[in-house]
Amino acid sequence: MKTECVKRAYRYRFHPTDEQAAELSFLAEVSSVPLQQVLRHLEVGFTNFFEGRAKYPRFKSRKKSRRSAEYTRSAFRYRDGHLVLAKMAEPLAIVWSRALPEGVQPSTVTVSQDAAGRWFVSMRCEDPTVTPLPRLDTVVGIDVGITALVTLSSGEKCTNPRHERKDRARLAKAQRALSRKASGDGANRAKARRKVARVHARIADRRRDFLHKLTTRLVRDNQTLVIEDLAVRSMVKNRVLARAISDAGWREMRIMLEYKSAWYGRDLVVIDRWFPSSKLCSACGVIRERLPLNVRTWTCDCGAVHDRDVNAARNILAAGLAVTVCGDGVRPQRSTPERQRSMKQKARPVREGLLVP
Ligand SMILES: [Zn+2]
Repeated sequence: MKTECVKRAYRYRFHPTDEQAAELSFLAEVSSVPLQQVLRHLEVGFTNFFEGRAKYPRFKSRKKSRRSAEYTRSAFRYRDGHLVLAKMAEPLAIVWSRALPEGVQPSTVTVSQDAAGRWFVSMRCEDPTVTPLPRLDTVVGIDVGITALVTLSSGEKCTNPRHERKDRARLAKAQRALSRKASGDGANRAKARRKVARVHARIADRRRDFLHKLTTRLVRDNQTLVIEDLAVRSMVKNRVLARAISDAGWREMRIMLEYKSAWYGRDLVVIDRWFPSSKLCSACGVIRERLPLNVRTWTCDCGAVHDRDVNAARNILAAGLAVTVCGDGVRPQRSTPERQRSMKQKARPVREGLLVP
């Protein structure tokens, strides 16, 4: 017998002691809307937990969590480039990096503060300026690595942003300074921590800027983009720090590729099947037995000379094309939940002859 689930709300009244009331009084300083939004987020967290998509919700930390408040439509006013939040008399002093499109009204506004102490406001809106681009017949395979951030099947290599090394030195210095400070809540320690956070933020900003430019270009220039799933890459165990860093960038880049492909009507193919992309000759399909990491170029018995990363990118492209030609297995990625997608994939040998576009 099956019982129907009924959605109902239970509401309880509670009487705080004077002490509790004093402790909670700061909640009255802001509009009730962001407080209610927090409860909605919590509900989403619990729903995801009960449906097996996420872990049990954790408490936010006053010190470590990202601080943010979400305002819905009724709790802010946006007019002529001025944003006024509920319970505030003056518009926020916003540095507009670019104007909102004409006539657009945000549906939610989120105010946040990052670890470096910078305040941000993000507005969610329907953007009429994003429209699909004309279809092309170009394809590209994308390989991510350590020496070059991204290698394309066309042979092009995009290296890490050139500031990266200098930024790392700066970060190491700030971290050394922090580790010298006595532990606890001292003012000097807080200052040192803030400094580390600022360097981190700078590195993240530069990388994000670089990735945005790169992904926009890739999506504009290609109809089909093939990438390798990170979970599969990680199966090849490698504990080098550089790999962890490149993985973090890769995750960010993949998210950008996913939504930009959806925006501009491009097909993003994710191969989530493991295959030896570096060791496979993209010209004849023979697999080399071993290929140490320090070998950057190699010559196949068939005579083809391969750059390690370009060869891998070509194999990724070929695998993606083989899958799309065969019709099943991988669908173009358009906001398909991660889990559903990886279940769909079946192992399929890379076919010879399809390898080079
Ligand atoms: Zn070969």
